[in-house]
Amino acid sequence: MRKIIVVGSGIIGLSCAAFLALEGKKVQVITRNPEEATSWVAGGMLAPFSEGLEEELFNFSYQSLREYPEFIRFLMEASGHHVDFREGGIYRIVLEGEEKLIDLGKLYKKKGHRVEFVEPKEELNLSKEVVSIIHYGEEGWVDAEMLMDSLLFALQRMNVEFVVDEITRAVMADEEVKEIIGIKSVYRGDFYLFAPGAWTKGIFDLPVYPLKGQALKARGVLLPRVHYSTISYLIPRTGYLYIGATSEDVGFLGGVSLEGLKKLSEGALRIVPRLSGASITDMVFGYRPATPDGKPIFEAGENYLVLTGHHRNGILHAPLTAKLALDYLRGSSNKFLETFSKDRFLKKT
Ligand SMILES: Cc1cc2nc3c(=O)[nH]c(=O)nc-3n(C[C@H](O)[C@H](O)[C@H](O)COP(=O)(O)OP(=O)(O)OC[C@H]3O[C@@H](n4cnc5c(N)ncnc54)[C@H](O)[C@@H]3O)c2cc1C
Repeated sequence: MRKIIVVGSGIIGLSCAAFLALEGKKVQVITRNPEEATSWVAGGMLAPFSEGLEEELFNFSYQSLREYPEFIRFLMEASGHHVDFREGGIYRIVLEGEEKLIDLGKLYKKKGHRVEFVEPKEELNLSKEVVSIIHYGEEGWVDAEMLMDSLLFALQRMNVEFVVDEITRAVMADEEVKEIIGIKSVYRGDFYLFAPGAWTKGIFDLPVYPLKGQALKARGVLLPRVHYSTISYLIPRTGYLYIGATSEDVGFLGGVSLEGLKKLSEGALRIVPRLSGASITDMVFGYRPATPDGKPIFEAGENYLVLTGHHRNGILHAPLTAKLALDYLRGSSNKFLETFSKDRFLKKT
């Protein structure tokens, strides 16, 4: 195979490009704007338990979580760039009225996962609203900005070519992509991999839509690990705390809002009151690639793959999605291509 074209430079496109370049493939990444990818602003939690995922989505997410240590090791070596990656678990905060979460924790524990229940009074920072803490010991988190930087460094070292252009159409015939049309040029490859995130509808008729998320960065309180609650989550990063996130069905409306700031601040203070003295250093926003059932959407053709719709968990899903792309190019099948096939949205007659 001579040339693979990857459309999109978020975590999904770049991870696939890295795995394919490692195999010795000639890879070209075409992206409209390297800075607009949602992946730059993600919290980076690797949290299939805290997210309460179920069935196939849990299985896919959990398998990807298991791939993470090796994924980070590979990237740091390939890029020469450090990535903050923390294992050792996330605290799932349980608030009054959320006792059902404890049953879920018990269920995961019964299935053999590392789950502990911690008394809130053992944690100095927490408010009285917190009635319990579930420590999901297998979860972790990664600094998504460092991860993206590292991918870009690695790809440059592996001589992957970057082109800035917006793809407006994929010309198809007989289930194959013949060429892709950009604003600046027409591109042809031997295989095409599309990872356009929330902007998928600009190229393919798939039910992916943007779900905006705002998050803020603050300095002041150091936490030992992620505190994930239903009203906000607090992620310790080197030098600051990442506080996420809103979830807004407002299309591609840009910018950060006073309402977003209020919601994030109130949510964080209800979990850790001591944050009242923290200073805000930045506020960010991005667009989750959401789908009607909250699961990824994969489309596999003769000479192309569309890998999209990773919604709230694209950072978590990156290593397994890239592996899936690699398997497909090697000619071996992967059950998750079927599980998350776009065919589930075809109208039954
Ligand atoms: C506030 C917030 C917090 C989050 N926290 C987490 C978290 O803790 N853990 C987690 O796992 N996930 C998290 N997510 C979700 C995660 O960020 C996304 O699932 C993930 O970034 C999607 O990656 P992607 O590569 O599919 O898309 P993106 O990162 O958005 O990249 C898409 C790329 O495609 C390019 N593109 C689009 N259309 C075209 C076109 N026509 N031509 C050329 N290029 C094109 C864009 O320019 C962009 O580079 C969070 C999201 C938000 C908003």
